[in-house]
Amino acid sequence: MSTAVVVGSGPNGLAAALTLAAEGLDVTVLESADRIGGGARSGELTLPGLIHDECSGFHPLAVDTPFSRRFDLAAHGLRWRWAEFEYTHPLDGGRGAVAGRSVADTVAGLGPDGRSWERVFGGLAPRFADIAEDFLRPLLHVPRHPVKLARFGAAALPPAATLARIWSTDEARALFAGVAAHALRPFTAALSSAIGVALGAAAHRYGWPVAEGGSAAITRAMLGLLGEHGGHVETGVRVGSLEQLGAPDVILLDTSPEAAVRIVGDRMPPRVASSLRRYRHGPGVSKVDFAVEGGVPWTHEPSRRAGTVHVGGKLEEVSLAEREVNRGRMPERPFVLVGQQYVADPSRSRGDVHPVYTYAHVPHGWAGDATLAVEAQIERFAPGFRDRVLARHVRSAGALETDNPNYLGGDIVGGANDALQLVFRPRITLTPYSLGVPGVYLCSAATPPGAGAHGMCGWNAARAALRTLR
Ligand SMILES: Cc1cc2nc3c(=O)[nH]c(=O)nc-3n(C[C@H](O)[C@H](O)[C@H](O)COP(=O)(O)OP(=O)(O)OC[C@H]3O[C@@H](n4cnc5c(N)ncnc54)[C@H](O)[C@@H]3O)c2cc1C
Repeated sequence: MSTAVVVGSGPNGLAAALTLAAEGLDVTVLESADRIGGGARSGELTLPGLIHDECSGFHPLAVDTPFSRRFDLAAHGLRWRWAEFEYTHPLDGGRGAVAGRSVADTVAGLGPDGRSWERVFGGLAPRFADIAEDFLRPLLHVPRHPVKLARFGAAALPPAATLARIWSTDEARALFAGVAAHALRPFTAALSSAIGVALGAAAHRYGWPVAEGGSAAITRAMLGLLGEHGGHVETGVRVGSLEQLGAPDVILLDTSPEAAVRIVGDRMPPRVASSLRRYRHGPGVSKVDFAVEGGVPWTHEPSRRAGTVHVGGKLEEVSLAEREVNRGRMPERPFVLVGQQYVADPSRSRGDVHPVYTYAHVPHGWAGDATLAVEAQIERFAPGFRDRVLARHVRSAGALETDNPNYLGGDIVGGANDALQLVFRPRITLTPYSLGVPGVYLCSAATPPGAGAHGMCGWNAARAALRTLR
């Protein structure tokens, strides 16, 4: 029987382990933390009984993938839950915009800009499964659905600021700004609309679901399946070198590229090591979780019923905030993502006290405390919010890295989403998972298709390993 060691138990490490174990390999996962799951963990961060997602909260790209079709995570307890609205964007004076699952409802709410929303997302949403099949793999391949991918490219290629010109109202422009900000890129940068267009289309196709009971349910389901296939996980083991691992047939590293260079050491060909050393990380986030009595009192009423609320005001303000964090400066008014997972999944609340998840975009490695800035931004659109806060739990960008070495400088997307790294991740090569040493692969979010608790990097890397093994 062939043997495999996977270093790191994030969603990609576990997906890789499961993919190998299901093909008959004897798999061990080694995790440095005392709990498994990496970015797919949840816990009582503020008050007993309130379940907060510690990292990943919303999973539009995990619902329907080659990995999720191959492995029945529902049989191991994973249930997706949806809020009434996928994401909203409040503006001053109680105004705001709403993205629902239905393109038609979203279009109807956007008045004169509805038709342009329809033009961008109306054609992509029904074709999203095919488009995703192409971009959930390394981008350098012969596309299975070239026409649909080209249609996606037409919307995704321009900078976010350029695409946004097709809308004229503050509402539609802000709605797009919120989803485009997920790329953590300046809105003027090449390909800066790609992630926003993908997440926006996914919202209309799959919604932005949360895992019932917390994102740790994703981890538990993968662990359950891994156990069925004979794999096992050891926690509290930080891997510093390949020598620690004995001589398994396959090694997959669910680590940052920088850590992979250290772990593989002299065995890594110098050209691979030097390109991985040049891998770039983007801005960080600072996370603040709240226990809030009665929920957030948004003046824009539909935001009370949304899973995600993008907070940052008009497109110009969000654009400025993103430019600042990319230049290493903390904006006075940062972009803040507010997660109201309890709207979709009431089991996370206790009575009328709710777990509210937020993070602000901050400069890479910023050590400051974003709590005041986050509260001020929410208070601007939900006066009285502060009075409802019963408890807080704060993690700076630096603390996120201490908690999980993959989040360098608080970079939660595993590497800057600049144009080059969107296409070539983690280096320019046709074999992005290979670390240049036979049998040793990288499988983290620093590889295609990038960030998210979808497990697709792990699935792709494990399949690359299996092809070589055979
Ligand atoms: C605040 C926040 C919000 C997010 N929101 C979302 C969201 O809403 N939706 C979404 O899809 N994604 C979201 N993400 C991103 C998502 O969590 C990550 O992209 C995903 O977890 C990456 O998975 P991974 O397996 O590559 O790495 P990780 O989940 O980071 O796991 C890596 C694991 O490897 C371990 N490890 C690293 N080095 C070593 C070593 N040397 N030895 C042993 N173990 C090691 C780490 O401890 C960790 O457990 C968010 C992340 C954060 C932090």
